[in-house]
Amino acid sequence: MKITEIRARVVEWRGKTVPPHPHFCTNPVDLLDLGGDAMAGFRFHGWLIVEIFTDNGHVGVGNAALAPRVAKQIIDVYLTPLLIGKDPFDTEFLWQLMYRKTMAFGRKGSGMVAISAVDIAIWDLLGKMTKQPVFRLLGGRTKNRIPVYASRLYSQPLDQLAEEAKSYKQQGYSAMKMRFGWGPLDGAAGMQKNIELVRVLREVIGYDIDLMADAYMGWNLDYARRMIPLLEPYGLRWLEEAVIPDDIGGLAELKAMGRIPIASGEHEFTLYGFRELLDAKAVDYIQFDTNRVGGISQARKIAALAEAHSIPVVPHAGQMHNYHLVMASLNSPMAEFFPPVDVEVGNELFWYIFEGEPKPTNGYLDLSENVAGLGLTIDESALKDFAVIE
Ligand SMILES: [Mg+2]
Repeated sequence: MKITEIRARVVEWRGKTVPPHPHFCTNPVDLLDLGGDAMAGFRFHGWLIVEIFTDNGHVGVGNAALAPRVAKQIIDVYLTPLLIGKDPFDTEFLWQLMYRKTMAFGRKGSGMVAISAVDIAIWDLLGKMTKQPVFRLLGGRTKNRIPVYASRLYSQPLDQLAEEAKSYKQQGYSAMKMRFGWGPLDGAAGMQKNIELVRVLREVIGYDIDLMADAYMGWNLDYARRMIPLLEPYGLRWLEEAVIPDDIGGLAELKAMGRIPIASGEHEFTLYGFRELLDAKAVDYIQFDTNRVGGISQARKIAALAEAHSIPVVPHAGQMHNYHLVMASLNSPMAEFFPPVDVEVGNELFWYIFEGEPKPTNGYLDLSENVAGLGLTIDESALKDFAVIE
């Protein structure tokens, strides 16, 4: 069988969006003090959808969300010509072909996002052609169900934050993650405001529920070093992206403090990027996202490397391409879950584009044995709310 056609589309949300609270999440631009809505550059209201067609009538679906217009161009101009006429079962050869042919510009960032989306579609194809869910091609079931943590709790007025946490507790989640609102330029007063968020959350959920906290690359090493002792009494399960992804030494220093486990990796790429993180002893948790690191072909290798270092993998974002890997990896104790909400930062957009994404019950979700491939289909009728770029 052969690949006959690859279709990459970008869909951009045209409907209503929820405006963010001030200080709703720290981010790397904060240090530039641009004023206004600094998070604007980190909201993404577009998504890349990739379909790969074969001569025996199958269609594999992959997707990615970072800089989708650029990723689409990379697929159309560079990747598609490499893959037409090839056998999709040659996953490793095809990955290496895409990687090596784009080596000069593609190793990290948008180039790898494009490869990821294509690779995910290839694995979906394999599942459909063998009539197996993808997790069964990756090693099968390592757990009865996948524990997921509720991932939202953006910085907001404390009473609203408490309400949101209460609702996750009532829904039965045994873990949840919050976002900090203040960073280095907000000084000591901002530090206290960050601590207030954590304090209120612990008041609501107690200590029988895991709490994680995300700085989304908005801090620096000095600030993180000073925040950690203040946060320590609240028993966070991890502190996420406390420094920018290139500051691997900074992550290692924070981990060496030994006071709060350090998590990172959602903006790292390929086996080589994660080897650096692991060699540097920079993280306690690895958080790759399959649709950024190089797709399932790379994610499974990173998962194996992490396992050999006894560093658990809890992938960034929910979504099927990550859930199938978590199901097949004993070293992945849980997965992230973005609750479906009105369109806000963009994380939630996949709920509006695809059908088949599982929802948790009591903090767990399951994957069906009887759905071939990844189990996602494009909801074409829902795309009327998007501008579609062919
Ligand atoms: Mg994060």
